[in-house]
Amino acid sequence: MTPPPRRAARMTSSSASVLVVGGGVVGRACALALQRDGWQVALLDPDAGGVASSWGNAGHIATEQVQPLASLATLRSAPRRWHAFGGPLDLREPLHRLPWVMRYLRACVPSRFDAGRTALRGLLADALPAWRRLAQSINAPELLHEQGHWVCWESASGARRGEAAWRGADIGTTTLSALGDARRATLQSHLAAPIAGGIAFDGTAQIADLPALAQRLGAAFAQAGGIQRSLRVQSLRREGRRVHAIADDGTRLDADLVLVCAGVRSGALMDALGVRAPLVAERGYHLHWAAHDWPALPPVVFEDRSMILTRFAGGLRAAGFVEYAGIDTPPDLRKWARLREHVEQLGIPVRGEPVPWFGARPTLPDYLPALGRSECFDNLAYAFGHQHLGLTLAAISGELLADLCAGRPGAVASAAFDLGRFA
Ligand SMILES: Cc1cc2nc3c(=O)[nH]c(=O)nc-3n(C[C@H](O)[C@H](O)[C@H](O)COP(=O)(O)OP(=O)(O)OC[C@H]3O[C@@H](n4cnc5c(N)ncnc54)[C@H](O)[C@@H]3O)c2cc1C
Repeated sequence: MTPPPRRAARMTSSSASVLVVGGGVVGRACALALQRDGWQVALLDPDAGGVASSWGNAGHIATEQVQPLASLATLRSAPRRWHAFGGPLDLREPLHRLPWVMRYLRACVPSRFDAGRTALRGLLADALPAWRRLAQSINAPELLHEQGHWVCWESASGARRGEAAWRGADIGTTTLSALGDARRATLQSHLAAPIAGGIAFDGTAQIADLPALAQRLGAAFAQAGGIQRSLRVQSLRREGRRVHAIADDGTRLDADLVLVCAGVRSGALMDALGVRAPLVAERGYHLHWAAHDWPALPPVVFEDRSMILTRFAGGLRAAGFVEYAGIDTPPDLRKWARLREHVEQLGIPVRGEPVPWFGARPTLPDYLPALGRSECFDNLAYAFGHQHLGLTLAAISGELLADLCAGRPGAVASAAFDLGRFA
């Protein structure tokens, strides 16, 4: 049984030790923030090849996505977005996902949706400023492209409906305007399919090179004195009110603080401690072309096709799909075929064979992240469950966790992100 909750003792950060489990973008941002805050941090992750979702995503700093996807509007749109009818949404092995779906349905109730939106709005309002601070501090301001993003439609009716929906939505600190003739003409000149309309967002951004970001975060962490170990944590164990880690080789690892940032695999780690974190793997797919003739535009969302196209330093990436499936369920090859069809039908100028990738968004039923310190264990903290917004929220998550772990009042209200909501 989990020990009874009481307010966990806050410790000072002077040279106390931290194990950060998971070195995706959230783990790296947290590890760096804690190390710079005076903790002695060890970052544990076996992913040498950079295959995590943190490095396979669409690179979009999506500060406009203030409305949690646990909503009646998302539910209503589900049938027309279903994969069997050509849409991006797929629920594989539905019976296994049933408990999560039931929690999701409860989170869609308007009062809970409104509370979630308020919480997410607060976090997203500081997400881009936090990225500016982080990018500056790792000497990589050039990796953050603040050029907004575009959304476009291929039919006039789709454009009317889509634009009206965005204009009626809460888009936080961002703004939107019509794409305008000049920008539309530029876009059209690189496509075969006609574009009927579009909008441009301001106040969103892009990470220009995800492998470079991983490298720069790692280098800054090492320079600050942090230690990276290529190691998988097999399990977390408890002794009274304290937690320790067991590595794959059976070694016991103790620390003053254990911070779980293992993306979608955080659920199983927390489960072993009796802490409920109902994560689902919400998987997405991409195709990445090293060679292409796509111009230096901001990320473009082809909303009729639920596909985002991002030009990175290392190539052009088309990403999409929302597939609820087991973490280790084999990929569905039809999704890559569908992405390729979209790219061909649109006439996007790519050359050669693309590299296929799929990965999981770590998603909790209310589509809010889990950020906080355990009430039940004195040395347990967590930062995971960032769903579609892990890249967007990584920098602010690092700042918030550093504040929480030092017992400082944070700049952003964090109560809504406490895992206690699932207890
Ligand atoms: C197709 C697609 C497109 C996306 N586009 C965007 C986007 O444009 N913008 C955006 O903000 N978000 C986007 N996302 C979501 C984003 O990628 C995720 O929210 C983000 O990757 C979550 O980061 P993370 O660090 O929590 O988890 P991950 O990236 O999954 O990293 C977790 C890390 O933990 C490690 N780990 C796991 N278990 C253990 C263990 N037991 N011991 C040690 N280490 C462990 C893994 O090796 C991994 O490196 C997209 C996702 C997908 C799939």
